Amino acid sequence: MKKFDYIIVGQGLAGTVLAFQLKRKGKSVFVIDKHRESTSSKIAPGAYNPMVLKRFTPCWKVEEQLEPLYDFIKNFEETFNESVHTPLKLWRKFYSVQEQNLWLEKSENDRLTPFMNPSFIANPYKDIIADFGFGEVINSGRVQLSKVISLFKEQLENEACFLNEVFDYNALEIRSTAVVYKSVSADKIVFCEGHRLTDNPFFNYLPLMRTKGELITVKLKGLQVRELIKSNISILPLGDDLYKVGATFNWDDKDEVCTVQAKEELLDKLKELVSVSPEVVKQEAGLRPTVKDRRALLGAHPKYDNIIVFNGLGTRGLLISPYLSLQLIDFMEQGISLDPEVDIKRYENEMPC
Ligand SMILES: Cc1cc2nc3c(=O)[nH]c(=O)nc-3n(C[C@H](O)[C@H](O)[C@H](O)COP(=O)(O)OP(=O)(O)OC[C@H]3O[C@@H](n4cnc5c(N)ncnc54)[C@H](O)[C@@H]3O)c2cc1C
Repeated sequence: MKKFDYIIVGQGLAGTVLAFQLKRKGKSVFVIDKHRESTSSKIAPGAYNPMVLKRFTPCWKVEEQLEPLYDFIKNFEETFNESVHTPLKLWRKFYSVQEQNLWLEKSENDRLTPFMNPSFIANPYKDIIADFGFGEVINSGRVQLSKVISLFKEQLENEACFLNEVFDYNALEIRSTAVVYKSVSADKIVFCEGHRLTDNPFFNYLPLMRTKGELITVKLKGLQVRELIKSNISILPLGDDLYKVGATFNWDDKDEVCTVQAKEELLDKLKELVSVSPEVVKQEAGLRPTVKDRRALLGAHPKYDNIIVFNGLGTRGLLISPYLSLQLIDFMEQGISLDPEVDIKRYENEMPC
C-alpha cells in the first residue's frame, strides 16, 4: 500500500493549483485524472483581470487574490524553469461618451484606482472599430493553462504519483483516520472534478449549474493587435496573426459539443469589432463549473471530514484558484474556518437525509 497525505481527484486548474501548493508545503499528493483532450481548463485562454468590465466594478475580493496568483505563477515558473505567463494590457472598448465618463468617475474610486488607467486610449488600429476608444485595465495577463497542466502531470508521472482513470467511487474505503483507494491510502481525499461533480455521490447535492462556453481561434491577417481587447467578446492575440475569440455563455446546453450557433454568434460580434475577414481555424467548447450564488464550493463532506471538495471556480478560475487553494489548505491542515461565502456548509440543508 502506498501512503500519501492527500489523494486528489481531477487535474484541471483546481486540482493542479491545489496539488502544487500542497507539494510546496511539503505534503505528498497522489493525483487521479482521466485524460481528456478538451476540458474547461485546457480550452480556457487563461486570461485574468481584476475588474468586472460590464459595470466597471472590482472582482470579488480581488485585492486578496492578486498576490497569491502572482506568487503561484512565479513559483510554478521557477519549479519548471518554463515561462507560462504573459502580462498583457487589457483594453475595454467604449460604446459611448457616457461610458467614457463612467470610466473616469470609477477610476477615482479607491478600490479601482490601482486597476484603472484614467486616461482614454484613442484607437490606434485601422482595422479595429472603436470610435470612442478604450479604457486600459492594469494588472491583467494570460497564463497558458494547458501548459501548466501538462508540465505538472509530467512531474507527477515521473514521481509515480499519477493515475489516468475515471475515479471509481465504489472502490473508496472511508476509515475514521484515512481513505483507501485501491493500492493507495491517504489522510484525506479532495475532489476537484469541475463540472463532473454532478456525478459524485458525495457532493452531487451541491448546486453546480454548469455554463457552457465556446471559443473560436481565428486568423486575422495583418491585424497586429498586441492587447487583450474586450467588447461584448474578447480577442486575445496568440501571435502569427492568430487570435482566440470568445466566449459564449449558454445556460441550457449541458454538453461539450461545438455548435454552429455559437460560431455564428462569435463571428457576428467579431464583425462589430474587427474589419478584417476572419478565417476560423479551430472551435472549442467546455462547461464552466458555475454555482447558483456565484461563489466557489470548498469544504468537507457533512458526514466525513476527510472527504473534501474544491470546485465552483466559475468564469474566473485562474484569478481565484491560488487564493482559494491556500484557504482550503489552512482549513485541511490547521482547521481554520473557511470564508462562509465559499464554505459548502451554506448548502448543508440541501443534502438528502
Ligand atoms: C470557453 C471558456 C473560457 C474560459 N476562459 C477563462 C479564462 O480566460 N480565464 C479564467 O480564469 N477562466 C476561464 N474559464 C473558466 C475556467 O476554465 C474554469 O474556472 C476552470 O478551468 C475550472 O477548472 P476545474 O479544475 O474546476 O475543472 P476542469 O477544467 O473541468 O477539470 C476537471 C478535471 O478533472 C477530471 N475529472 C473529473 N471527474 C473525474 C473523475 N471522476 N475521475 C477522474 N478524473 C476526473 C477531468 O477530466 C478534468 O481533467 C473559461 C471556461 C470556458 C468554458
